[in-house]
Amino acid sequence: MLSNLAARDVETLIHPYTNLATFRETGPLVLERGHGVWVYDSDGRPYLEGMAGLWCTALGYSNEELVEAATEQMSRLPFTHLFSGRSHDPAIELAETLKELMPIPTSKVFFTSSGSEANDTQVKLTWYLNNALGRPRKKKIISRIRGYHGVTVATASMTGLPANHADWDLPLPGFLHTACAHHYRFAEAGETEEAFSARLADELEALILREDPDTVAAFVAEPVMGAGGAVVPPAGYFAKIQAVLNRYDVRFIADEVICGFGRLGTWFGSEALGLRPDTLSFAKGVTSGYMPLGGVTVDEPLYRAMVSQSAKLGTFGHGTTYSGHPVACAVALKTIEIFRRDRIVEGVAEKAPHFQARLSALAEHPLIGEARGIGLIGGIEIVADKRTKRQYEPKAGVAARCVAFAQGEGLIVRFLAGDRVAICPPLVIAPGEIDTLFDRLTRALDRTA
Ligand code: PLP
Repeated sequence: MLSNLAARDVETLIHPYTNLATFRETGPLVLERGHGVWVYDSDGRPYLEGMAGLWCTALGYSNEELVEAATEQMSRLPFTHLFSGRSHDPAIELAETLKELMPIPTSKVFFTSSGSEANDTQVKLTWYLNNALGRPRKKKIISRIRGYHGVTVATASMTGLPANHADWDLPLPGFLHTACAHHYRFAEAGETEEAFSARLADELEALILREDPDTVAAFVAEPVMGAGGAVVPPAGYFAKIQAVLNRYDVRFIADEVICGFGRLGTWFGSEALGLRPDTLSFAKGVTSGYMPLGGVTVDEPLYRAMVSQSAKLGTFGHGTTYSGHPVACAVALKTIEIFRRDRIVEGVAEKAPHFQARLSALAEHPLIGEARGIGLIGGIEIVADKRTKRQYEPKAGVAARCVAFAQGEGLIVRFLAGDRVAICPPLVIAPGEIDTLFDRLTRALDRTA
């Protein structure tokens, strides 16, 4: 029997990423408030938010300083924009702050309102750059099977998950996918991580050569794959991939939408995993999820191209009403101030060994084939047979059941395709709360078994 609110929900709302065929029976989980790493449903029941919302509420819930920053900006100037040279102090100050923080040479920052818009902007800027450089054939974008980069027409094309392609008439032509760097699932028997990485780099090179390097513009990857399974790359992977990209002058876009802002115990995932991208996309953690904001970094060669195209075309023809929204920028500035003052990133590095030890211990569970992560992110894979890694029939919905049992235990974790479960709590989680998280997850797994 659905509550009043839940019944009204099923009559009126379309939910993203929800099975609309079964939703009328299950109904929504209606959350009402949050405090620290806890959220409370409309009956007052607490849940440990083990997914930081959607990989974003880094500073947890009820952070009064973020609320005050938003309120102050809303009272002072709730909206202005950056079109046609208009500006405002939160955007200027945030761009300066981000330039200081970026792990790669950054000339300028362009703001968006989401991760999808940021990656969509990356595609458009790549095409724009190559037009400016007089190489109009160099336009193809390579991403990875199981990568997740968003839902716009271009970013859903980059995303490598069936739900984003089937019956959506995607991917668009010119969007190609290379292998998923998941050693546990895709390595051949006895293949080391280094050998697997070398094979994937060879496959990428073969794809570029097959397509013709003069037509391949960019490669995009998340440092740790998020929605595709919370997958940590195998040893040597990015070094080998980058060598291939350099050989064929293919631009490297790091999608730091999840890994940016502390998740791996460094400000950006690229630092933790040794990526040297030409540009990166960010969103989510930049405001701790309190306001929608994303963006991309613009390197000097790209900036020069943008200036010369503006001179030719009369304007830089890109941007949305809310690019660099002042309230979102004010909240981002306060988020970064708190990160610096409270040593949030260092705190992640300090807590990570405990989190990872509890995660790794799950590998002993009879249902778990792999339990692996880095920093404060982890993924587990449920298997029917640990030795052969055989999976349950997708129809059995085993990981979905585990996540439902976890919810019954007062824990929110996320079910992902391939019977994987992601764990990605707010960065402010306390060591005792890490124990609560894994105790509850273990009980949920016991009930699933
Ligand atoms: N890139 C990555 C790595 C993501 O995880 C996501 C969302 O989860 C996106 C891009 C898309 O961001 P948004 O949902 O804000 O459009």
